[in-house]
Amino acid sequence: MSVKVDPNLMKDLKEFGLTDANKCFHCGNCTAVCPLSTPENPFPRKLVKYAQMGLKDKILQSPEPWLCYYCGDCSDTCPRGADPGETMMVMRRYLTSLYDWTGFSRKFYTSEKFEIIAVVVLGLLVALGLWIFHADSPNMEHAYINSVWPVESMEIADLIMGGVLAILLLSNTARCFLFVLGDLKSKIPIKHYIAEAKELVIHLFTQKQFSECTDRMQWIVHLLIMTGYSTVFLMVVVFLAGGLDIIGLSWEKIRFQRDVIYPIWHPMRLLGYYATAAILYGTTYAIIGRIKKSKAPYKNSHGTDWMFLILLQLTTLTGIFIHFTRLLDWPLTTYVLYAIHLGVAVPMLVLEVPFAKWAHLAYRPVVLYLTKVKERYAREQQAIAS
Ligand code: SF4
Ligand code: SF4
Repeated sequence: MSVKVDPNLMKDLKEFGLTDANKCFHCGNCTAVCPLSTPENPFPRKLVKYAQMGLKDKILQSPEPWLCYYCGDCSDTCPRGADPGETMMVMRRYLTSLYDWTGFSRKFYTSEKFEIIAVVVLGLLVALGLWIFHADSPNMEHAYINSVWPVESMEIADLIMGGVLAILLLSNTARCFLFVLGDLKSKIPIKHYIAEAKELVIHLFTQKQFSECTDRMQWIVHLLIMTGYSTVFLMVVVFLAGGLDIIGLSWEKIRFQRDVIYPIWHPMRLLGYYATAAILYGTTYAIIGRIKKSKAPYKNSHGTDWMFLILLQLTTLTGIFIHFTRLLDWPLTTYVLYAIHLGVAVPMLVLEVPFAKWAHLAYRPVVLYLTKVKERYAREQQAIAS
């Protein structure tokens, strides 16, 4: 089978943040120290080599970038300062842009100007929508958000947004699925997919592979941000949009954005507190780490790393402020903060879920799952051959 070489690959990868990969002289130290590298899927040296040789198609089919959790051990031990951990991160950005059929992800990752304009334009569109659809006579005596923006309109907007994001993310994930399977997509019997299905669930919810890295703090921070963010996403997109109503639960009791102040023990309030604390701790830890460049994963910060952390932290902080102004019953402050909150949260969801970092949370468990499926299939073929 012929191997296609892309002479512009290195140049292309530089646009995604690659800096030091050319320094690599292939000693193999990085692969030897990587706690997650396996004989079946050795990395990161292999990916550095693919980059240097212009093997774009090989990268496209590689599961390895998603098997790396960026603990930084390899970068710390590289004798050439080639930063292989960062190369793996760049590969994830690059692959995210290749999986995305709209081309939006590529623009987002390769142009800071585009990234900032996209956030500002979406924020302004949210502000315009809130202005057009606000009620004529909002309650200015009590802080009732739904008196300004009726709950039905918010739910319709939320359902539309959730549906569009789901279509984009699922279609991009399907492309990731097909690329990683490569030629095996028509060969692996369905029984192997079923037998390994638990792997998908385990990796989706626990990121257990990350816990095998030496720096367990990175795993905890990653897990806190992921679970906090997922909780908020479910609360906003599923609960607010009445997703549970579809499966027969009463959404009047559990709907997220109500002007009812839930008792302190209410599950929605407890979930909200957990998500807030988890995101705030995780993002603050990562921001301080990136400012101080305290460890290998924080040494090179791409514009999208900052954007992700800033949007997430602003969304969380405005959410906290709204919680208190509602408790204090300050109507105008609550409404203004709510508009700012949506002006930050919506661009974050729209940009990050299908096109950037948040999509990693779908790609990684899917690829880890496919890796297990492929290994099971390979074992079966070996057994048949022997
Ligand atoms: S990236 Fe560094 S440690 Fe890894 S093979 Fe190259 S020179 Fe060696
Ligand atoms: S960053 Fe950690 S997990 Fe990723 S390749 Fe390097 S050593 Fe392995």
